[in-house]
Amino acid sequence: MNDEKPWPDSIRAGECEQHEPLVRRVLAPNPSPYTFTGTQTWIVGAGGDVAVIDPGPTGSGLSIGDPADINGIGHVDAILRATAGQRIAAILCTHTHRDHSPAAAPLKEATGAPIIGCAPLALSDDGPRADSAFDADYAPDRVLTDGERLTGDGWTLEAVATPGHTSNHLCFGLVETRALFTGDHVMAWSTSVVSPPDGDMAAYMASLSKLYERDDHVYYPAHGPAVTKPRQLVRGMLGHRKQRERQILRELEKGPRVIPDMVKHMYKGLDPRLTGAAGRSVLAHLIDLENRGRVARDAENWRLVA
Ligand SMILES: [Zn+2]
Repeated sequence: MNDEKPWPDSIRAGECEQHEPLVRRVLAPNPSPYTFTGTQTWIVGAGGDVAVIDPGPTGSGLSIGDPADINGIGHVDAILRATAGQRIAAILCTHTHRDHSPAAAPLKEATGAPIIGCAPLALSDDGPRADSAFDADYAPDRVLTDGERLTGDGWTLEAVATPGHTSNHLCFGLVETRALFTGDHVMAWSTSVVSPPDGDMAAYMASLSKLYERDDHVYYPAHGPAVTKPRQLVRGMLGHRKQRERQILRELEKGPRVIPDMVKHMYKGLDPRLTGAAGRSVLAHLIDLENRGRVARDAENWRLVA
């Protein structure tokens, strides 16, 4: 769905790779169908202090279905190695899925750096998670709201509120080079999982449109390759979601349907491990359509509103 270069991934988990003078990446050892080659921790800054974005999972924070266990220790050590001689001024989290934020606590313990970024998320019922459970222990020292900035030695990061994948999702814009750290909001290797009740398709679409209005020159997602034609990718994603919505409406034109049947027709050749995630995405679309008065449900059956 995009013409970006394939991710070379010559580097291995734990190694540090320079992407531009102010930006480095350390890959966490948690590859899975949901995390691609693993969570990418981004380090911003080339001077005396740096920011660390999405420190990653700890041992219990890997995606569902991934048997690997890294204890978190190895990845925190890798971040410390990559930043040796520099002070970590802030630990930033885009959102609190457990492949992103749990390592913030051990990294804070090791460095004294404050945890700054997205809001914590307390859910009484986070529903059947399709990609990754929430990190209930996430405890930020400071929450950034849309447009708030954080500055260090030669770098400025600005929070861009992008709810949808999760309600607390933030992207971070590097003002100096117009790079945007997109977390799980926009990735080139896969569409983002939008899983109700916290995931919200209408909010997700609005957050895509918000990025489309910006003039970022590169995206650094939490998983997969850097995106060098961001607006083109975002436009494609908006189109893709609208196409899914039309597909759903066409399915329902044949009569009332349950979600698993719709997934079977709509996602040909899907990795069976991703069937649950596809179902959550269809549900997210249906809830959006329901809120707009286009569809209704009777128990598990969805139908068009005449
Ligand atoms: Zn996520």
